[in-house]
Amino acid sequence: MPELPEVETIRSGLDARLRGRRIVGIEIRERRLRRRIDVAELRGLVGRRVEGVSRRAKYLIVDVGEGTGWLMHLGMSGRLLLLQSGAPTGAHEHVRAEFEGRVTLCYRDPRRFGLMRVGRIEEFTELHGLGPEPLARGLAATLACRLRTTRRDVKAALLDQRLVAGIGNIYANEILFRAGVRPTRRCFRLSAAEIREIAGATGAVLRDAVRRRGTSFSDYFDSDGIPGTFQEVLAVFDRAGEPCRRCGATIKRRAHGGRSSFYCPGCQR
Ligand code: ZN
Repeated sequence: MPELPEVETIRSGLDARLRGRRIVGIEIRERRLRRRIDVAELRGLVGRRVEGVSRRAKYLIVDVGEGTGWLMHLGMSGRLLLLQSGAPTGAHEHVRAEFEGRVTLCYRDPRRFGLMRVGRIEEFTELHGLGPEPLARGLAATLACRLRTTRRDVKAALLDQRLVAGIGNIYANEILFRAGVRPTRRCFRLSAAEIREIAGATGAVLRDAVRRRGTSFSDYFDSDGIPGTFQEVLAVFDRAGEPCRRCGATIKRRAHGGRSSFYCPGCQR
């Protein structure tokens, strides 16, 4: 599932190619997503000009002016691809938007957990109640304060989009490795120093991952179809049974909260 670094990589690709271009056509081939695509709503984009592409948590917002936006979430397996006009239709294609200058944006989603809607940006309820952006200034202080007051285990807290937005299972595991804290630790039992480490590691890991244009196993590619490279430097995620790159201990995997947690018993307390 794409997390903040992957969505941010796609955002910058779309912004660079689509900003200033007018939408000249919308084709809808498959309406079934997490919520059914509203055809009239989406067709209303024709004639609008893209003022920019922004991101909030794991959501992309194509700003088409006058407070109106095209909101997208990639769900589990959604992909946005920029193609030349007239490129052949791929499998699982839901929507194809034609821009002036012969640029096409395609949305494909085999598992159909994605979301796509058009409306007033301030009225997108999906964006209400999201926690702070982990790459924003001052995040460390906000996150430290929020972690101190919850009784949950620290990994569940990092995955909670209301507490901090945009982090999923890959980066939560990597952040906790970098902070030296095990995923099952309870937040209210963490020391002030550990909380500072986690807050600092959150920004550091996500910034590194953005620089490496995300993590690609099999299904994530950017809007030009190019994979990210953060999988090459993962410390713990998906590395159970392999040696820790820092201390040599064997990385462990535990089912925890319905997902896999990975940690190094040597580096994380
Ligand atoms: Zn280690």
